[in-house]
Amino acid sequence: MADYPRSLPEFQQLFPGEAECAGYLTEIRWPDGFRCPACGHAHAWALETKAWTYECSKCHRQTSVTAGTVMHGSKLPLSKWFWAAYLMATHSNGISAVQLKSQLGLGSYKSAWLLCTKLRRAMVDPDRSPLAGLIEVDETAINYRTKDEPVSGGQGRSHDGKIAVVGAVEVIDEHPGRLRLACIPDYSADSLHAFVKANVATGVTAKTDGWSGYPGMPEVNHEPHVIGSTAAHVILPWIHRVFSNLKTWALGVYHGLRRKHLQAYLDEFVFRFNRRRSRHAAFRRLLGFSVTMPPATYNMLIEPEAKG
Ligand SMILES: [Zn+2]
Repeated sequence: MADYPRSLPEFQQLFPGEAECAGYLTEIRWPDGFRCPACGHAHAWALETKAWTYECSKCHRQTSVTAGTVMHGSKLPLSKWFWAAYLMATHSNGISAVQLKSQLGLGSYKSAWLLCTKLRRAMVDPDRSPLAGLIEVDETAINYRTKDEPVSGGQGRSHDGKIAVVGAVEVIDEHPGRLRLACIPDYSADSLHAFVKANVATGVTAKTDGWSGYPGMPEVNHEPHVIGSTAAHVILPWIHRVFSNLKTWALGVYHGLRRKHLQAYLDEFVFRFNRRRSRHAAFRRLLGFSVTMPPATYNMLIEPEAKG
């Protein structure tokens, strides 16, 4: 079997039905063969009475291919999950829940939103390595909207209706490498340094503007550039382009981002940016993270700060 589909006809050919989707997930989840999640035993029977479910020959625990994953307990057919993952991973701008509802013929906005939200949780590679080499670091403010209202945004220097976001991008041979973005409570040294510490390898060279929150970043060679407002895009061209694309994307696809879910949307943007040269492989990666991530409760999804 091909590793992943490279076009819609290939997608159709690879996944004509539920059985092919289940087979693909089984292969991704247990590349070295089935492992019982309860006892670790390697031998199981496929149950004839329950679809895509195996019974451990030692402890008799029954495990479906989606049990204990992001897809756990979903009423949707696997084919809908596959289409959603394909559209979210391969489309250059992703797809909103509203668009997904109509493209997949889903019954309600809520089920489309849950599908997107669950897949979005699987967009952070749990084993990703920190940014390295030369990086640009900068901060910006993103307008957000409340549930039923359009995008609000403070004018001028006010940050009402805006959320502070910090970003770092690698620069490799004068081209952008990998990206990280995070919501931060403010632009203080504490917030900025914590972001750098969590996302950047020891010994990187970090270019920033002259903002007072940057000096003293841990384990980093700091290259501050004191610049006028017009020249920032010259000194830090890549992170500026990222911020500009992020804002256009947020308005174009989502008509503004919701404050509560902002980090998840940033993660989605980063997932797609970091795989912009391998969008079709990203589909398999997304399903791969989906079967290694534990399921989230409904409350964890609607209130991202709640821990379950
Ligand atoms: Zn077992």
